[in-house]
Amino acid sequence: MELMEETPNRTLAVIGAGPIGIEAALRGLSVDFDVHVYERGSIGENIRRWGHVRMFSPWKMNRSSLGKRMLEENGKRVRGKDDVCPTGDEYVRNYLMPLSRLPLLKKRLHTGMEILSIGRESIGKNEMIGNPKRAQHKFRLLMRNKQGKESVVLYDIVIDATGVYGNNNWMGNGGIPAIGEQALREEIRYTIPDLFGSDRETYEGMRTLLVGSGHSAATTLAQFSRLIKESPETSLVWVTRSDNEQPYEIIPDDALSLRAELGEKANAIAANPPRNISFMPGCTVESISRKGRAFSVVLQQGDRKRTVKAENIIANVGYGPDNAIYRELQVHECWASRAPFKLAAALLGESSADCLTQKSHGADTLKNPEPNFFIIGNKSYGKNSSFLIRTGLEQIKEVYSLIPRTLEIKAGQFLFPAR
Ligand SMILES: Cc1cc2nc3c(=O)[nH]c(=O)nc-3n(C[C@H](O)[C@H](O)[C@H](O)COP(=O)(O)OP(=O)(O)OC[C@H]3O[C@@H](n4cnc5c(N)ncnc54)[C@H](O)[C@@H]3O)c2cc1C
Repeated sequence: MELMEETPNRTLAVIGAGPIGIEAALRGLSVDFDVHVYERGSIGENIRRWGHVRMFSPWKMNRSSLGKRMLEENGKRVRGKDDVCPTGDEYVRNYLMPLSRLPLLKKRLHTGMEILSIGRESIGKNEMIGNPKRAQHKFRLLMRNKQGKESVVLYDIVIDATGVYGNNNWMGNGGIPAIGEQALREEIRYTIPDLFGSDRETYEGMRTLLVGSGHSAATTLAQFSRLIKESPETSLVWVTRSDNEQPYEIIPDDALSLRAELGEKANAIAANPPRNISFMPGCTVESISRKGRAFSVVLQQGDRKRTVKAENIIANVGYGPDNAIYRELQVHECWASRAPFKLAAALLGESSADCLTQKSHGADTLKNPEPNFFIIGNKSYGKNSSFLIRTGLEQIKEVYSLIPRTLEIKAGQFLFPAR
């Protein structure tokens, strides 16, 4: 065994090529880790799914000084003015894609490669409990490419930056699926449609049920109010669980002005719904069925049962982390948010609803009993929706401060080549 005093050169797998995965890989490479990134879709896959929506946070909050510097050093122009808020697509096209093409990163990014499960070589979850010596057993990553071929790769360190957007919450009462929801899952929309682009045909002239009262629901609502003006035969029933007649809390002097505008607009619709939009607060979704083109949705509103018929359902009811990939590791999770426990506990102490006041909570909160396994980015917040890219960029620096500086050098050992 060869020991190295200063510069680490260990194998590090980053899972997920969203903004945090890409930036984490860049930082690792810049300090000489042997990094590979595995992404089940394409670069910025989750952001592309809402790419038509404008972000609340401006460019300066969504990119790191390291990323900018690397682009400049490679002769690339850094696009996007600091104070302008890009759309999701602009962010992917003008920042994440150029980063992914940097010579340092390009050959180390494996798109179309889904991580299915992570364990430790030769030991199980219930062995060496909380023992740092688990680190002597490499991580085994089971992955599958687009052709369905599976392979296993070994790594010393794993950063899970798989986000939450691929894993929607259910819309039923109590957060569990409504009766019939699971069977109809593929026909229900859990993301924000692009009503002035590829999804117009699906919704124009139709009746849609929208469930939710977060910022995604407000974005969908704002699009419908515009579409209905252009196409008055379109209609929307908007249902929220809270019985608040003004569902959006407006932060005084909100520095994210687009967020404030969106909340104000949604509250104005709730207070005085325009023709063809009806607002139903205080409802839970009990069951969903479908006959022909029409869904029939049973709602409970106070002590009344109501049935809504609609051709489309959009459930903008939030997302949560998928913990299946690390089921065989020793990860201490919060029982309320499914986030890594220490960070979740720090977040529970936050009193403000404003994600702008969030800052990173320090390196220690990113540790969990499994040595050299880190959950960062949106997934590290679990079901808490206040995560911002800016916080994830801080977490990256903290993670690297946790990785030991005296390291055993071994080249990445590929059992079955995954490329
Ligand atoms: C409408 C909307 C607007 C938003 N606006 C803002 C904003 O203004 N500012 C802001 O900071 N944040 C905003 N967010 C939140 C933003 O999406 C996140 O902050 C950001 O995407 C988090 O980055 P991430 O890298 O942690 O996760 P993600 O961007 O979700 O990336 C995770 C990646 O992991 C991949 N992946 C998942 N599972 C696997 C697997 N098993 N194997 C391999 N790859 C996998 C996914 O395909 C994805 O590419 C917004 C979100 C929405 C929905």
